[in-house]
Amino acid sequence: MPVYLDHAASTPLAQEALEAMTPYFSDRFGNPSSVHSFGQGAEAAVEDSRAEIASLLGCHADEIIFTSGGSESDNLAVKGASLAMRMSDNRRHRVLISPVEHPAVLHAAAQLERQFGMEVETLPVDSFGRVAPADLTSMLEDDVALVSVIHANNEIGTVNQIQELGAICRQRGALFHTDSVQGVAHFDLDLAELPLDLLSLGAHKFYGPKGVGALYFRRGTPLLNLQAGGSQEFGLRAGTHNVPLIVGMARAYQHCVATRPETTALDVALRDRIIERVLAEIPDAKLTGHPVDRLPNHASFAFRGVDGNDLLAALDLEGYACSSGSACKTGEPEPSSVMTALSLPADWGLGSLRVTVGRTNTSEEIDGFLTLLPDVIHRLRVRAPA
Ligand SMILES: *Cc1c(COP(=O)(O)O)cnc(C)c1O
Repeated sequence: MPVYLDHAASTPLAQEALEAMTPYFSDRFGNPSSVHSFGQGAEAAVEDSRAEIASLLGCHADEIIFTSGGSESDNLAVKGASLAMRMSDNRRHRVLISPVEHPAVLHAAAQLERQFGMEVETLPVDSFGRVAPADLTSMLEDDVALVSVIHANNEIGTVNQIQELGAICRQRGALFHTDSVQGVAHFDLDLAELPLDLLSLGAHKFYGPKGVGALYFRRGTPLLNLQAGGSQEFGLRAGTHNVPLIVGMARAYQHCVATRPETTALDVALRDRIIERVLAEIPDAKLTGHPVDRLPNHASFAFRGVDGNDLLAALDLEGYACSSGSACKTGEPEPSSVMTALSLPADWGLGSLRVTVGRTNTSEEIDGFLTLLPDVIHRLRVRAPA
């Protein structure tokens, strides 16, 4: 079996979640909107799941909308809330985002600009990919509808100061959204205390099923439904609920929160071993993202003069599944938008490697990986000198 070191891309389904979901794929197939007992059972499962997730997040059940995943939650927040804000107050036509957002936020914001006539501006980030609260203060005027800053970055692991950023938005009457698809998988959040209006989560990053997620929206937050139809999800997201996936998400999240202290301790030990040995043993290697304020399971690097795609392919051949930030477009490799935002020199920006550990990894696996990696990188550098 190859070793899976890509938990920021997806995680294996928790056994607890699989077991909770199974009956809803068979006997308990009712439509939650139906009046009869089959429907009532399904509706109860959906509402219990909503209440469970809300209580773990410290919010009200009617502040949770089920979606098809993190991407849909981001779209609903960024487009649905900005457009609703502008509809209620015409002056609010600007949207501020960070340059290190997930493509779901970046591209939703681009649509607001190109197709809906809103003005999108990019907040600066430091060399760790973090937005400084002072920069937000100076760019935030009364014409801003929404600010969206990622909680914990999927590519470089950096954690943003969402409490400070949210407080600044609240003072100015702008909505604040954070993509916490990575964040909620690793940090306990108390939405009763945090000044956030909208927060995206997705189940498959916390050992839940793919194709399901949720959007938290604080009571009273203006939101336009992007998907019209039936009155499901408070009229904000039409369509028959995916009952088994919703049940699986709630069970996975409950398990994730209940086991958090042990999981985090194991993750951090493996992550720190990776970071320490890579920086000590591989020449011309940098840690990308923040050295301290980063996801507990996330190690990410840039290597000078190495092509990230070649590196992934070589590691895959050796039996290690990792990820990179560079995307090969039309044979012309380009650094990802996140790597570009960090302003690394060109011969560093392509050589990114992301190693994200999880529950199933052992220290033997990590040692095997760390023994191999310096040789693989050396080989690639000799083959293609920078
Ligand atoms: C995975 C991810 C998403 C997308 O979630 P899906 O459920 O795969 O659509 C969005 N944002 C971040 C930060 C992610 O890591």
